[in-house]
Amino acid sequence: MSNKDINIDALFIGEKAENGDMFKSILTDLIDEHLGWRQNYMPQDKPLISEKEKDSAEYQETVEKMRDVLDEVSTRLRSNSVPWHSPRYWGHMNSETLMPAILAYTYAMLWNGNNVAYESSPGTSQMEEEVGHDFADMFGFKDGWGHISADGSIANLEGLWYARNLKSLPMAIKEVKPELVEGKSDWELLNMTTDDILDMLEELSDEEIDAVKARSARGGENLKQLGKWIVPQTKHYSWLKAADIIGIGLDQVVSVPVDNNYRMKVDELEKTIRSLVADKTPILGVVGVVGSTEEGAVDPINEIVELRKKLMKEGIYFYLHVDAAYGGYARTMFLDEDNNFIPYKDLKKVHKEYGVFQEEKDYISEDVYNAFKAIEDAESVTVDPHKMGYIPYSAGGIAIRDIRLRNIISYFATYVFEKGSKAPSMLGAYILEGSKAGATAASVWAAHHVLPLNVAGYGKLIGKSVEAAHHFYDFLSNLSFNIDGQEIEVHPLTNPDFNIVDWTFNIKGNKDLVKMNELNHKFYDEASFMSGPIYNNDFITSHTDFAIPDYGNSPLKYVEGIGYDEKEWNRAGKVTILRACVLTPLMYDKKHFEEYAEKIKSAMEEKLTRILSK
Ligand SMILES: *Cc1c(COP(=O)(O)O)cnc(C)c1O
Repeated sequence: MSNKDINIDALFIGEKAENGDMFKSILTDLIDEHLGWRQNYMPQDKPLISEKEKDSAEYQETVEKMRDVLDEVSTRLRSNSVPWHSPRYWGHMNSETLMPAILAYTYAMLWNGNNVAYESSPGTSQMEEEVGHDFADMFGFKDGWGHISADGSIANLEGLWYARNLKSLPMAIKEVKPELVEGKSDWELLNMTTDDILDMLEELSDEEIDAVKARSARGGENLKQLGKWIVPQTKHYSWLKAADIIGIGLDQVVSVPVDNNYRMKVDELEKTIRSLVADKTPILGVVGVVGSTEEGAVDPINEIVELRKKLMKEGIYFYLHVDAAYGGYARTMFLDEDNNFIPYKDLKKVHKEYGVFQEEKDYISEDVYNAFKAIEDAESVTVDPHKMGYIPYSAGGIAIRDIRLRNIISYFATYVFEKGSKAPSMLGAYILEGSKAGATAASVWAAHHVLPLNVAGYGKLIGKSVEAAHHFYDFLSNLSFNIDGQEIEVHPLTNPDFNIVDWTFNIKGNKDLVKMNELNHKFYDEASFMSGPIYNNDFITSHTDFAIPDYGNSPLKYVEGIGYDEKEWNRAGKVTILRACVLTPLMYDKKHFEEYAEKIKSAMEEKLTRILSK
């Protein structure tokens, strides 16, 4: 079969467990293989648990106890889990996960490999090495590398760790081997490019590198002089944790306003940088977000890259990290089967050829396309397989553009284990974490091999979620309710860059933003665990607040569009938003969507009626 013909529906257990029998049959085969593997090792060894022991009362009672406990686990999970598999779930970044990933995870868990070191997990460590290269290829990093992390928060922390250590290296070199940086001012040293720093390291002996690393930011001094870490207002809160833990401190984090589409304003970024530079404050780095957590907005990474090129001519340089925890996998929509970035003019044609979308619409704007392309110029990228990779938790990831960056955070001397060894890295030495599940690597590896990281595989899957998001957006755009004579309007936030759709309800004519916020919060209560057992709920969503301390006036245009003025916006201080991350691989089909749209509409109407009659 050519990859073009991959049928996504075959790869999920299914809303009504349509592929359940297949799932069970493959799982049973895999378990049998594991049991056989145990039995076949050293056939001269006798079983140690005898039939007689199995017949004993204590043994039987112990088994019963185990069954009871598992029954309790089952009861708790069945009554307290979120039915994210259903097209009635329009909430958090959660959905069906890929069957090959669940199967590989479960199977590999039986082997319990620890990917901290190759020797404790040869099979899954090799898979993680390959997955790391998949990440790098997905982002266009030719000499790159990557690995799986526990989650996106850890990957972001690691990104800041790279930036911090790197920024401090030239000053450390000045102490250890001043002749290498002779004639350079401290300002110039704090503005060296990543390529130049990594090239310079190659001129040092292994022992000198260790001495330099010991005098780098790792030593703990001068953390503040490394400068500011610049993020958009839409940043994930993990950046604050990262700045805290990495030791630069929250005061070094500067946030840049976003525009009406919740994308970073690059002219504001330039202003921020120029005013810092005027005070001789260096720029430690800039974060661009691809798929913001609350809006799915895609920052103009290409413009950030252009700005950096411009500033480089003025002797200013910053590290660029792309936080694509959510949106990273969507880059596969732009890659052909040879891993080339598809020219924009051919995109619709190729998408049609591969069946990425059912309808030929302008789902992907040129801005978003350009932003995704430019990720290849970043130093590092966060990507979460457990979000748009449709992999079970917990699977985050990071990719770096230049594999040499690894050595600036690593914790063993490079020469201890690189000499002559062809084996994959001693992962624990190069990353933040120690022990880590080999099962996760098997899971991601299996998914990447069933669904290639290009337009034929993941691109097609993610296309379905994007198309579903647009169906939902169109549905909300034409929706209103009449509840006991009161007209309820529906206000979608923005045409989605990607696949998150936000909206609010308002009573027509209401001029009180606080009251509108209450209405939307109450709706969330009705559409979540807040209103009783979630399994009984027929429409589930999530919510967030866009509040002035985080967002400044970026939401003002939106609330003005609903009918509030700036004074009312300042009085309320926030707007409460309902939020749907549309990951479902099922709602791309217009007919299926329309069936559910009817059900969602009546569920919404019922909830609004309950709220307004209280
Ligand atoms: C989800 C998310 C994170 C954090 O990832 P976790 O896997 O939840 O730790 C970071 N940044 C963005 C943009 C995200 O959407």
